[in-house]
Amino acid sequence: MQKGQVVKLDRGYPLVKCADGRLVRCEHATSLVKGEKLRAVIGDFVEVNAPEGHDKGIIEAICPRQRAFVRKDPTERAVPQVLAANFDRVIVAQPLAEVNLRRLERELVLAYETGAAVTVVLTKADLAESEAQVEEVAARVRALAGPEVRTLVVSDGNAESVEAVRALMPENTTTVLIGKSGVGKSSLVNMLVGEDVQETGSVREGDGKGRHTTVSREMVAVPGGGYVVDMPGVRGLGLWDADAGIGAAFADIEQAAENCRFRDCKHENEPGCAVRAAVEAGDIAPERFASYQALKQETATLRTRREEARRMRGEKASDKKRAARPAKSRGKKRR
Ligand code: GDP
Ligand code: ZN
Repeated sequence: MQKGQVVKLDRGYPLVKCADGRLVRCEHATSLVKGEKLRAVIGDFVEVNAPEGHDKGIIEAICPRQRAFVRKDPTERAVPQVLAANFDRVIVAQPLAEVNLRRLERELVLAYETGAAVTVVLTKADLAESEAQVEEVAARVRALAGPEVRTLVVSDGNAESVEAVRALMPENTTTVLIGKSGVGKSSLVNMLVGEDVQETGSVREGDGKGRHTTVSREMVAVPGGGYVVDMPGVRGLGLWDADAGIGAAFADIEQAAENCRFRDCKHENEPGCAVRAAVEAGDIAPERFASYQALKQETATLRTRREEARRMRGEKASDKKRAARPAKSRGKKRR
């Protein structure tokens, strides 16, 4: 048995880089998959049984994750799905000329929730109408992401812009790239690596096939830097446990909420609501407030569903996690 790290998911099979340097395609030990259905994801450190001479190894254990990117499983009602583990930074990519601020808010919540460093990269800047548009969009995004988050502008043909991204990926770090399909993540990875390691949306010469998205997930080594993982096909970005992420992505709103008269204020019709006051005063944009309320609602609904599911399984209503939650998020009584 030895340690290893999952560096690629190859048609569902983890490819493990073992401590002895070998790359071994692995299966999960049945004891892992039973019951809790634990599965190794990209970035996971694992204990692997890979006897020499065998073409397959067995993952016997998954080490506790220091960090994980988790969304709601899009195919199930109230189940989390881990997409990557043990990374240092999340880069949220959006196309500059077609930025979607509402989607960006959600992506930021998910990114913050991981606890990793967060950066926004605005891609395809060459498609902007003008330099003024670049400035205007970047300023809007910076205002939304807050002062803690760097916002970079890149375009495929501009090597300097890509170097600024590379500078965020020093050796011994792993960066996860998220963003809708087609925003230019694969192109960015190829620029970082200096050759076409990922298929991009454009039709390839030679085979003439117009592949739309990358299918495998893998840790790609960036020359002179760490690893980057392009997470393709992150289609539904349903929130899982996201209260901390929402708190970080909407720090201005949560700060204002400190001054609400009621600790469990829902910022609806309560008297003395400092958040609504800030919206009315123009300090918080109404759309931003609406997103905040919607994302909060999404996590609350999920929590209720999870509790329902637990009840259906016949578990006790007393749930440790819930009891440990601060009083603030527990107040569910009607006004
Ligand atoms: P992904 O799905 O996020 O990996 O996106 P791709 O990297 O496959 O890019 C989608 C399409 O956008 C492809 O046709 C790329 O050639 C194009 N593209 C990517 N980056 C840029 C850029 O900086 N400028 C322009 N004009 N097109 C780009
Ligand atoms: Zn309030």
